[in-house]
Amino acid sequence: MGDSSLFSLDGKVAVVTGGNGGIGLGIARGLARAGAAVAVVGRRADKLAAAVKELEALGATAAGLACDLADPAEIAALPDRVVERFGRLDILVNNAGTNIRKRPEDLELAEWHQVMDANLTSVFLCAKACYPQMKRAGGGKIINNGSMLSIFGAPWAPVYGASKGGVVQLTKSLAAAWAADNIQVNCVLPGWIDTELTRKARDQVAGLHDNVIAGTFARRWGRPEDFEGVAAFLASAASDYITGVALPVDGGFSVSLLPVAPD
Ligand code: NDP
Repeated sequence: MGDSSLFSLDGKVAVVTGGNGGIGLGIARGLARAGAAVAVVGRRADKLAAAVKELEALGATAAGLACDLADPAEIAALPDRVVERFGRLDILVNNAGTNIRKRPEDLELAEWHQVMDANLTSVFLCAKACYPQMKRAGGGKIINNGSMLSIFGAPWAPVYGASKGGVVQLTKSLAAAWAADNIQVNCVLPGWIDTELTRKARDQVAGLHDNVIAGTFARRWGRPEDFEGVAAFLASAASDYITGVALPVDGGFSVSLLPVAPD
């Protein structure tokens, strides 16, 4: 039996926004399986309750915290709610996000703000709110969730792409600002993952399902469980000398020059 303490999250407390479904729940499972207590954050109570049940079934300590991340006051209150429940806060995963698929000429200003608030401003506010707890604990880990639209463009993604490009740049500045506090800040860039979000996209974008497979070396859509390991790694001491990076988790999609040739 090997020594896995390098990757252990025993005694650590994590908060995962959007941890009540999709990729966020995959991340929450990875952190829980590595030993962390996990607070999952979202708006829908039924999804929160189901996620907590799933995490508890893994033997983890878990809680569901209802919070609308579009509301700065609710974000400001979040760290105290976590600490009240679990006594500390070591890991923040800024995963929650949304999309409005419209061409730039059709996108309304209110829609621009709605997506920016959910995808980018919430990352800044959650990180700022959790910073004092991490500093007090002598260190911490922040994992932000970007996208392939952090690096590519699409006609239907002007605001989503702008927000996710911003997540990468914000990650670098947070990493620079808080390295001296032993807080590492990194970003994952998911490829095409089968979740509620992309099920809607597959209805709206003709040919998407097959085109994703054709452009992905792994020859399949990603799954929320593909994020369990990377989240546990970026939350653990094993990644202490890694900060400010944006790591694609995409089955090779972002390094494929052309659609994958048939075997
Ligand atoms: P889901 O729609 O399954 O998950 C999004 C989560 O975010 C939900 O659990 C939702 O909870 C939460 N959420 C959204 N808005 C708010 C809000 N205002 N306040 C609180 N919680 C909120 O989608 P995914 O799992 O696919 O997406 C997760 C992240 O991954 C997003 O940032 C997305 O942009 C990113 N991503 C996804 C990709 C994919 O292929 N699926 C690809 C690239 C990036 P609730 O319903 O309770 O509000």
